[in-house]
Amino acid sequence: MVTPTHVLTPGGEFRDPEREAVFQAEHLPERLRQARLAFFWAFLLNLLFYVSDWRFFDQAHFLAAMTARSAIVLASLGCLAAASRVRGFRGLQVLCLAWCVATIPACAVLLAPHTEAALFMLFVLPIIFSQILPLGFGPALAVSLLGSAVILTGYLSGRTAQPWDPALGLGLLTENTLLLLLLVRSNRLQRQEWAERQANQELAEGRRMLHALLQAVPAPLLVLSREGRIVQANAAAQSYFGETALADPEALRECFGPEDYARITTPEPHGRTSEFEAQVRLADGSTRDVLLNVSTAALQGAAHSLAVFVDISRRKEMEARLAELANTDPLTGLANRTRFFDAAGTEIRRAQRRGPLPAVIMLDIDHFKRINDSCGHEAGDLALRRVAMLCRTLLRCQDLAARLGGEEFALLLPETDRHGALALAERLRRAVEGLRLDGPASMTVSLGVAEVQLGETTVNAALVRADKAMYAAKRGGRNKAVLWNGQGTGD
Ligand code: GH3
Ligand code: MG
Ligand code: MG
Repeated sequence: MVTPTHVLTPGGEFRDPEREAVFQAEHLPERLRQARLAFFWAFLLNLLFYVSDWRFFDQAHFLAAMTARSAIVLASLGCLAAASRVRGFRGLQVLCLAWCVATIPACAVLLAPHTEAALFMLFVLPIIFSQILPLGFGPALAVSLLGSAVILTGYLSGRTAQPWDPALGLGLLTENTLLLLLLVRSNRLQRQEWAERQANQELAEGRRMLHALLQAVPAPLLVLSREGRIVQANAAAQSYFGETALADPEALRECFGPEDYARITTPEPHGRTSEFEAQVRLADGSTRDVLLNVSTAALQGAAHSLAVFVDISRRKEMEARLAELANTDPLTGLANRTRFFDAAGTEIRRAQRRGPLPAVIMLDIDHFKRINDSCGHEAGDLALRRVAMLCRTLLRCQDLAARLGGEEFALLLPETDRHGALALAERLRRAVEGLRLDGPASMTVSLGVAEVQLGETTVNAALVRADKAMYAAKRGGRNKAVLWNGQGTGD
């Protein structure tokens, strides 16, 4: 990754001052080392140059040269000592600029004899100003150009002008241009490398964070390719599905079944999420209900599915349990009134389309109040349960028995005509009569039988008819099964 050009100044530094400050702060130890070395070598070399300065001993320039040389030696020593106190890049720049302010005029003085060595140094000094000292681009530009002008002036002073003097100026200008271009290039390269390193670090940190987040999610989470390859599976998914299922797309397909598996592995259009319920067979053979949330994750340029699972088996069990409770009579365990009307309606509508029609029986315990009164409410409850038990025993599996309330029961007999229903009612009557109870000596029931008629879509009308027949049985002396006779009473 390369830092875009617009974030760098023409000098190759970050435009954003904060970012540049961070960059400089990170590079401060290296820059300090560089400055210390520059001051140390300036100090050491200029000490050695004292020796060469003795050749001017008998000349007027000697005193000036010794003073200038001493200024450079002292400035370098002072800056070397001060460098240990520097805490930031700004301080380091001030120190380098102070060294330049002290040494550049001294260098100008030293170049005044315009010897060959002075000519050599005239072109070496700009290298020190722009490349060796750790300065920002602006200060380096100023020091290099101004410093070159000052030392050229020093070099040219005190002698008659020569025809090649302008060429010296142009030469210095060319050298400065090249040196500053080099500085720009090195500034840019350093910052580009640094920015790339930073970006890679951030990317790696982001990946680590994402991985940690995925692992921390308590719900199983899978990232799947279009082909069903598992790219990521968090810890919850590993323990939920087991390693074998996650090792092989085929095994995972078997866990879900082909339809749900296809829904999981087909990434949704971007920004969309699908949520659906599915069943999954786990490695231990158990079947669980899961709520799936599938969205799209782009990985390496390809759309992947991000599937999060929430196990809703307990919720489903609870729902089923609640539905059962809502449909069941708690005392007898038979269907309750609501369930009876729903199921009977469904069966009747089915039978109206395809026939044959069902029949219904109304059953009411005779003088039940007496049982309660004489033997107690608990004995009454027990009697209700015994009747329910008998219904369950005598009915076929497709029949439905319900307690409508109190001591009244209703039976739905699919595909049963009046004769079959009456025969069953009679069997029930006899069975109740034959019951041996703990409390009451005996118990009898009255039953009314009616058929569902053509065109009826609910059980209401048939129940009313069966009820009338049942009351006819009561009027007829109880302990009877009566078939509705179509006249508003029973036979
Ligand atoms: P009939 O032969 O005319 O049907 O007389 P009956 O006594 O059976 O009818 P009635 O309607 O007078 O009395 C029904 C009684 O059923 C009254 C009520 O206390 C009792 N009962 C209703 N629900 C329950 C129950 O859940 N448990 C018990 N033990 N008794 C109940
Ligand atoms: Mg009753
Ligand atoms: Mg009764």
